[in-house]
Amino acid sequence: MREKGAALYRSIRAALERIENQTYGYCTSCGCYINRKRLDALPWAELCLDCQEANESQRDELKSDSAGCESKVFEEDLHVSR
Ligand SMILES: [Zn+2]
Repeated sequence: MREKGAALYRSIRAALERIENQTYGYCTSCGCYINRKRLDALPWAELCLDCQEANESQRDELKSDSAGCESKVFEEDLHVSR
């Protein structure tokens, strides 16, 4: 639990730095805007869903194409609002 707390603290610190740099809300990996609902649930998120998923399942090389980023975000929004 202690380590998890420290990691969370670092993530929040990093988010605050991104607010200062005015890059908050943008994926630190591909640069696309992070889903608003995702930011509501996880305000210190550094990665968009695409990059997060790619991170978690790196064997799936199809995810490395970020071109579909925006449409995917809208799909997510639809799922959440239903
Ligand atoms: Zn991304």
